[in-house]
Amino acid sequence: MNIAENIRRIRNEVPAKVEIVAVSKFHPAEMILEAYEAGQRIFGESRVQEFLLKQETLPQDIRWHFIGHLQTNKVKAIIGKTAMIESVDSLRLLELINKESEKTGVITDLLLQVHVAKEETKFGFYPEEIREIFNKGIYHSFRSLRIRGLMGMASNVDDEERIRSDFMTIHQLYDEIKNNQDLETKHFDCLSMGMSGDWRLAVDEGSNIVRIGSAIFGART
Ligand SMILES: *Cc1c(COP(=O)(O)O)cnc(C)c1O
Repeated sequence: MNIAENIRRIRNEVPAKVEIVAVSKFHPAEMILEAYEAGQRIFGESRVQEFLLKQETLPQDIRWHFIGHLQTNKVKAIIGKTAMIESVDSLRLLELINKESEKTGVITDLLLQVHVAKEETKFGFYPEEIREIFNKGIYHSFRSLRIRGLMGMASNVDDEERIRSDFMTIHQLYDEIKNNQDLETKHFDCLSMGMSGDWRLAVDEGSNIVRIGSAIFGART
């Protein structure tokens, strides 16, 4: 695996306005440094302990995106250390991240994870729950959060039309919120969709953040 070469190739293919999160979960610090030296600054991690170890030892200008399911008892440990938490999947978690951010005196940027894929993961809000957070004004109560947008995954299937339609569903929900004149959506500008196998489709369907792991670092063991 030539990590630097993979990053250059993908960077050349991805439109300039789309950010690339290099998903480094399960990979050692040396591999992250290789990517860093090739100019990559945003990395994605999915487990709290692993993230904290890497965050402490690697260059401090790395912007870390937390992308895994976050247990409520681990929230406190990561507050103030992430550039973005992409995988917020419950109201309980929103409340807790808000509370801990307030205590620490930081504003936490985050994305709401949307559940559209059939069968794949049990995590994520249903679109209707996300509409409620906005339309019922619940989002107003989180003074120490910036809800920056949505993160979603397509069904893990070979059927391209199905993948495309999942991405379209997420994009439509994103637009519906962003374009609602009654909502305060000044900071709502991130649509995170697409991984190694489907990022081209995701970008076609409006993604502006792609989360790419194995196409940069190789298979995870
Ligand atoms: C692991 C992971 C990725 C990266 O997956 P690849 O197929 O290796 O690119 C992206 N998003 C999330 C939420 C992940 O957990």
